[in-house]
Formats: sequence, structure tokens, C-alpha cells
Amino acid sequence: MNHNSISEIRDLLDRHEIGLKKRFGQNFLIDSATRHRIGSLIAQVLPRPLPGSGEIWEIGPGLGALTDELRALELPLRLFEIDRGVIRVLRERYGEDLPIEGGDFLDTFRGLPAPGAIVGNLPYHSAGAMVPRIVESGLAVPVMVFLLQSEMVDRLVSPRGCKTYSALSVLVQSHYQVERAFLVPAGVFYPRPQVGSAVAVLRELPHRPSREVTEQISLLTREAFGQRRKTLRNTWKAWLPALEECGIDPGLRPEELQPETFRLLAEHLRGVPGAGQPRAVRDGR
Ligand code: SAM
Repeated sequence: MNHNSISEIRDLLDRHEIGLKKRFGQNFLIDSATRHRIGSLIAQVLPRPLPGSGEIWEIGPGLGALTDELRALELPLRLFEIDRGVIRVLRERYGEDLPIEGGDFLDTFRGLPAPGAIVGNLPYHSAGAMVPRIVESGLAVPVMVFLLQSEMVDRLVSPRGCKTYSALSVLVQSHYQVERAFLVPAGVFYPRPQVGSAVAVLRELPHRPSREVTEQISLLTREAFGQRRKTLRNTWKAWLPALEECGIDPGLRPEELQPETFRLLAEHLRGVPGAGQPRAVRDGR
């Protein structure tokens, strides 16, 4: 199909009696240059051979705009789509050979073996839940490439000390090296969103934290950034002895700590041997 043609998209949706659903963040990519650019980026950053199950997962394939790019890579692909009508279109286009997990990605990815990569033009309302949920699940996914709201990419790449530095930044950066690859204007989507978008590439760091440590990082960041203007002394009352044991100044605010300091404290709290040795504090300004 011609993904650039709004009238073709409308006809297809009409034929399958599918109404566009705002709650599913359905903004289709209607610009071939952008699709190729994302496809080439994915091809370039994929580790070869693909580790894990050797599959690429695509979240939210919609009418297949990115899926067509991914199929050209000739690697095993698995799709995750919530909209039943859209799934009918995908089945018609790709047949039964292409696995499609129907339902909310937050449920359907559970229990599957880790893929080699996860990619997608993510639904904007749910992306903020999907990305941390993947990290918290403990799945070791070497590479992820997502088209996201610009504002979310700002938070993903934000260094400490910035207004955009948040619980999401810390959680993701303690597992992934994150890069904003390029900006994507609103005009390349149908319907056109209100906000700008960007593509983010997440490459897994060597020695990712264990699942228990990840859980602890989430807990620490939620507490700390829930009251980000308060000092650690006031938000992490229960963990003050551990702060001292790790050499972390309790007079700092959460936005002043590097992701690795959150990780250090989390490892110490979870009893990882060697974590929490007193060390020079690097986080104060
Ligand atoms: N990949 C297509 C493209 O680029 O044109 C569509 C992207 S559109 C931004 C997001 C897609 O995610 C939609 O097809 C929507 O139905 C699907 N979606 C929304 N919420 C979802 C969820 N929780 N789990 C799986 N798919 C979801």
C-alpha cells in the first residue's frame, strides 16, 4: 500500500470499519523519507547476529508503515498491536506467518523470551509507561529504537541538573546509553499531532543491574523525584544510614545525583557485594 497517501489510508480504514482512536495514539507515518531514515537507523544499530530470541519486536505497527521497512531486513519479526481492526488489516497484508500479539503491549510481552531489539513509533499516551516497564521487566534487550514525543526524548537523554532530569532519566540511563538520533516534524504524521517528535536510540550498557537492583532504583527514584525540591535527607529518611555508608551527601537534591549513584545506593540496599564502599562524592556541585 502507499503509506504516503492519506486517501488510501482513509479508504483502508473505512473498508475495515476502523475509526481512528485517539486513546491509542494512532498517528501514522505518511512520509517515506522519514520511514526510510528510521529503517536505516535500525539496520545500522542492530547487533549482528541478533542476540536473545533473535527477533525484532515492533510495538504498535498500525497499518504497517514501519513494518514494511523492518521486513526488508529479513529478520524474524513479532508485532504487538492493541487495535483489533488494525490487526485484521495486518493479517490481510502479511498473512498468518508474521506473529502478532494482540492486546496491550504492557500485558502481551510478559513471559516472552528477550528479543534482539524493540522498535516502534510508540503511541504517545502510553510510551511513558511502556519504556520504563520494559526496563523494569528485567528483559535484557540490547537495542531499542523509538519514535517518541520530543518532550519524552528530552527526559530520556537529560543529564543530571536539568529541569527534564527525572525518575525516567535515571531508570533508563542506569541501563542504557541513550541518544537522540534526529527530530521528526509533526507534518509527517496523519493525523498531525500537536507536538514535535524525535527518534531515540537506547543501547544497553555492559553489566546491566539485576532485576532486584532495578526494582530498588525505581523505588528510590519514585520517592526522590516525587518531591524533587526536597533534599535526600527529607525524602529518603529510611535510607539515611545507607546514604552515609555509600558516601552520598544527604544535603543534595535528587536532580544532583548521577544515575550511577542511584545504582550504587540500590546495589548497596540489595546487598550486592562490594557496593556502597565509601568513595569520593562526585555528585555535589
Ligand atoms: N507504526 C505505525 C506508523 O508508524 O504509522 C503506527 C504508529 S501509531 C503512533 C501507534 C500504534 O500503536 C497504533 O497502531 C496503536 O493502535 C498501537 N497501540 C496503542 N496502544 C497500544 C498498546 N498499549 N499496545 C500495543 N499497541 C498499541
